[in-house]
Amino acid sequence: TIADPPVRRYGGLKDQDRIFTNLYCKHDHTLKGAQSRGDWHKTKEILLKGDSWIIQSVKDSGLRGRGGAGFPSGLKWSFMNKPGWEKDKRPRYLVVNADEGEPGTCKDREIMRGDPHKLIEGCLVAGRAMNATAAYIYIRGEFFQEASHTEAAIREAYAAGLIGKNACGSGYDFDVYLHRGAGAYICGEETALIESLEGKQGKPRLKPPFPADVGLFGCPSTVANVETIAVAPTICRRGGAWFKGFGRERNEGTKLFCISGHVNNPCTVEEEMSIPLKELIDKHCGGIRGGWDNLLGIIPGGSSVPVLPKSTCETVLMDFDALKDVQSGLGTGAVIVMDKSTDIVKAIARFAHFYKHESCGQCTPCREGTTWMQNMMDRFVEGRGHAREIDMILELSKQIEGHTICALGDAAAWPIQGLMRHFRPVVEARINQFREKEGNVLFGGAMQKDW
Ligand code: SF4
Repeated sequence: TIADPPVRRYGGLKDQDRIFTNLYCKHDHTLKGAQSRGDWHKTKEILLKGDSWIIQSVKDSGLRGRGGAGFPSGLKWSFMNKPGWEKDKRPRYLVVNADEGEPGTCKDREIMRGDPHKLIEGCLVAGRAMNATAAYIYIRGEFFQEASHTEAAIREAYAAGLIGKNACGSGYDFDVYLHRGAGAYICGEETALIESLEGKQGKPRLKPPFPADVGLFGCPSTVANVETIAVAPTICRRGGAWFKGFGRERNEGTKLFCISGHVNNPCTVEEEMSIPLKELIDKHCGGIRGGWDNLLGIIPGGSSVPVLPKSTCETVLMDFDALKDVQSGLGTGAVIVMDKSTDIVKAIARFAHFYKHESCGQCTPCREGTTWMQNMMDRFVEGRGHAREIDMILELSKQIEGHTICALGDAAAWPIQGLMRHFRPVVEARINQFREKEGNVLFGGAMQKDW
């Protein structure tokens, strides 16, 4: 008889395969410490291999954008190198999105605090791949320590000849600038970020034109997340096949996960993609507070993705496709755990407040819709609603989803859709409870049927 092939289990990343070795900044974050951990090793050789080689290595690795969208990075980085690009005399830019504002997400800040040189080296390597002349790192305004560590790393890299004129002795000139944001979540959207960098209000642009054609200062630009850029040098050094060896097909590599909420030890950790969510929590966070029986639900990818019920959480894998299959998403890899003490309606209502507050107001479905959703969710929290309004808010969320300039509209709609998909009886029970209580008060115990 032929035995079944062994089932591949994901997770269990070994220390020698970790890219980020200074999370929580426990070790020296300066150039000396970074070099002792392998950064800036053979960077010149990587640069001399040229743009096509770097892009092919990233394509071979299967890397998908770590900012949430999961677009194939090698493909994205090739957009600026269309045939004849050399004839275009405009400067070309890499823009690094370090405006980490997604609720629950705290991974990029760990990179910038503990491993800033990985990011600077990543800028150089990714910049070379795109034939960019400079990188702008747009960092969230609240990240003071992260900004100071990154700024210090840029200065050290300039002083050591690693960036600037003839970077690493490769003959390639490349500058890196750090720009601090001013507290708007919407500036994490790539075109709003570009607007903000240009000194304007952070309001998303209609696409096309895409940034690869008309981006920062009207020049070809590519916007990429901190983690995506910071893993590039290691991929080039160790080879695309090494990175592709982790995780499931189409979901390869390692990933930073940040787990918060009702776990015993909230943390940010690097793990293999496709690790089961349950294993991620048990292994790195010491399990759910009060045990798995006490779990209510988990938001697996930051506040913008729908919540999952306990039954799904126990089996789902942490990757783009597996989470999409259960109508949620990997997003930024920010796992928000909620035990049974959570008022799930209130939690999702809090997100509705957030998105209403952060909407830039340019498009009507988002501007008006987030306000309506906030108001309706507030009433659901108290039970002051009617059961038919559940379908109304779902219909409203569908009118927002896909009908706005940027993805903030979708991000506002999805958590509410997830709530109603999995926790509709909780909302209904609250409405019924309120009606009974108020009915007794208002009508002396004689409940009116339809008010
Ligand atoms: Fe602004 Fe919302 Fe429209 Fe995005 S979806 S452009 S945040 S109004």
